[in-house]
Parts: sequence; C-alpha cells; structure tokens
Amino acid sequence: MPETTESILDAAVDGGATTLAVRRAVFNSMLAARGINEARICELTGLDPGAVKRAVDHLVAAGIATTDGAKGAQRLVDGAEGLTIRKSGHAIRISGSELHTWCAFDIVGIPAALGLDATGSTHCPTCLAEINLEVRKGEAVESEVVGWWPALSGGPVIEAFCPSASIFCNLNHLEAWRSATGAKGVPRTLTELAQAGRTTWARFRA
Ligand SMILES: [Zn+2]
Repeated sequence: MPETTESILDAAVDGGATTLAVRRAVFNSMLAARGINEARICELTGLDPGAVKRAVDHLVAAGIATTDGAKGAQRLVDGAEGLTIRKSGHAIRISGSELHTWCAFDIVGIPAALGLDATGSTHCPTCLAEINLEVRKGEAVESEVVGWWPALSGGPVIEAFCPSASIFCNLNHLEAWRSATGAKGVPRTLTELAQAGRTTWARFRA
C-alpha cells in the first residue's frame, strides 16, 4: 500500500495548542453524539471566546468541522474530523453512540485509531447495495469489500477527500466506478484503511 505518513486532518490545519485543544473537545463531543457550542468549548478548554471562535472558523475553512451557522457563543459545531450528528449516507455505532460519518473510510478508520469496537453501514457507489462494516478492538473485520483512497487534490477535506472515500462491494464494482468516473486514487483493503485510520486520527487516541 502507499505510504500514509501524514494525517490528512492534521495537514489541513495549524498545529498550535489552541487548535488542538478545540479539536479534541469537539471530537469527543461528536463521539458522544452531541453537538457542542462555542460557549461549552470555552468551558472545557479554558480558552477565551475570541480564541475559540477563531479556532472554529479555522476548522470550518479547512473542511474538518461543520456548524449550524448560528452566530456567537451559541454557534453549534455539528460535525468534526469525519464524525457528524447530521444524517449522512454513512452510519456508525461507536462507544455506545449512534451517529454518522462524512465518508465510508471514517467508519473503519476512527475505531481503528481509537482501538474500539464499531459497526457501521454505507452504500456501494456502483450498485447501491448496503455494505455493513465491523471493527473489533481496532481491527477491521476483512471481507471482499474494498475501499477507495482518493488522490489528494488540496482544498477543504470534507469537499476534496470525503465525497469519494467510498467502500465498494468488491474490486469489480470499484473498477467499474473508477473507469466511469476517471477518479484518481488507489484501492485499499479494510486492513489498509484501518492502518491509514491510525495515522489519520492518531491525535485523538486517549
Ligand atoms: Zn456494489
């Protein structure tokens, strides 16, 4: 598999302590299937409201957080680092929470990074069949399904990476989609996606 030496999430934002503190607070809130407003982020991190607002703006611009668009301290972060409390085409059950993800890769990669059990479901882009996924103690349960790892093209992560980070029924369905779309990237097994996940979400390990 190609080297994955850098987290696409970490690469999208500055590595400062303020940004990281806000990312951790928001990610943990998402894991609990709860949105979190800026006032609560201030409480949890001890940061002042201006610093939290700037950090959330930064995360939104980088495409690693979404908000409800409200103004001020009540602005609610409703998605971050691949997890979202908005409904999406990809469901995950993790840490006793049921929520959604931005892409199929997240379903495997996040529990792999955290060493957790998870189950989830997504749909094959070629035949639209539902695909059920399982991770046990951070290890993907392998099957003939295969993931697509998009070539990085720059731009906000949620727009540039997530829409095509799909999982297909099998390599034939992946290849049919690849030739129809001309997409640039590489296929990856679930085990390889889990490994990529450990890099991508390394920051969020307890
Ligand atoms: Zn299929």
